[in-house]
Amino acid sequence: MKILVLNCGSSSVKYQLFDMEEEKVLARGLVERIGLARGVLTHRPAGKEKMVQESEIPDHQKAIRLVLDALIHPEFGVLKKFQEIDGIGHRAVHGGTLSSSLLVDEKTKEVIKELEVLAPLHNGPSLRGIEACEKILPGIPQVAVFDTAFHQSMPDYAYTYSLPYEICQKHKIRRYGFHGTSHKYVAQRAAALMKRPLEELKIITCHLGNGSSITAVKEGKSIDTSMGFTPLAGLTMGTRCGDIDPAIVTFLMMKEDYSPAEVDELLNRKSGVLGVSGLSSDFRDLEKAIDEGNDRARLAWDVFVYTVKKFIGAYAAALNGLDALVFTAGLGENSPRVRADICRDMDYLGLRIDPAKNEVHGQEKEISSPDSSVHVFVIPTNEELMIARDTRAIVDSLRLHSV
Ligand code: ADP
Repeated sequence: MKILVLNCGSSSVKYQLFDMEEEKVLARGLVERIGLARGVLTHRPAGKEKMVQESEIPDHQKAIRLVLDALIHPEFGVLKKFQEIDGIGHRAVHGGTLSSSLLVDEKTKEVIKELEVLAPLHNGPSLRGIEACEKILPGIPQVAVFDTAFHQSMPDYAYTYSLPYEICQKHKIRRYGFHGTSHKYVAQRAAALMKRPLEELKIITCHLGNGSSITAVKEGKSIDTSMGFTPLAGLTMGTRCGDIDPAIVTFLMMKEDYSPAEVDELLNRKSGVLGVSGLSSDFRDLEKAIDEGNDRARLAWDVFVYTVKKFIGAYAAALNGLDALVFTAGLGENSPRVRADICRDMDYLGLRIDPAKNEVHGQEKEISSPDSSVHVFVIPTNEELMIARDTRAIVDSLRLHSV
């Protein structure tokens, strides 16, 4: 069975085509600069040279058409015809309180549309991707996989904000959590690496990238996560502020006469380690600057590390113990320095990492020392594979029902 996974952003489409018999990637790629003067498709078929095409790409429909053409390209293609694709899985970020992936039909599209108000940057493009596929590939089942779904197991006291209950009900204000597909994948892999059932483990998963979040996973279920109503909450991030005193927002609106849009821009795009350092949102730039003696870069780094440490402590308390700590995503997978700083002085948990093992980049590995009472892992995330698996399961069940 061949499954195409699409991750549609506002100006980009990332894709991977899987052969699900061996869960192998046949091709992957990226369309960038959709709607701008000149768009670019970069297509990477497995075992072949990459293909780069520049052209005008006004919308998602054109972008997906280019992806499909690349997949059947005589030289760089991996399929003979589109109809070899058995299902399409979409990363649809916000699924509200839905706890599982859904076959795309009119009702599912309605749900994604309704939730656009909560995730305008994400749900809109996903919907456009879904509608483009309906036009270009009618009859091929599509599945929506939600970033929020894994977190819907949180107990009510973990997802409820202490605001007036009625106003939260009216506007669907609660903690939803994000990066769920990633947290679920790495928690499953950690259990597999420990050769123990996920259902008996207490795991903290740290997804540290440009956007960062951390999740407490008990018996395979998310019981708390650092992102909230939106992906702005929780940890300090590349450009997002994470948790701050909410009164700062009204204070700034009064003092600086900021509009809601300006505050939004400030908190989402000008804050985080970029805001503190005044230098960069990229942790590689911060590491370099710290080594050159830049104290604002040091401060931004320390603020980030400290917020992660505090969440680990809080979640160890929520879990009443800890069996494994997992690092994933761009920063978590690739920065030995950030992992070492986060794991320093964790004797209260009996957690110790081995400095030599910690020198790992983008590779699945246990990095704790033999005497550590908590297993510490680096596990590259694979959200696309999870989306492909869910899509396969739903396509399989459709076929079963149509027999
Ligand atoms: P996104 O949230 O956009 O998916 P990623 O998970 O790809 O982000 O993470 C990107 C971030 O990871 C970069 O901005 C950078 O800060 C960090 N990063 C990537 N590689 C390294 C590295 N080798 N050392 C330190 N930081 C890295």
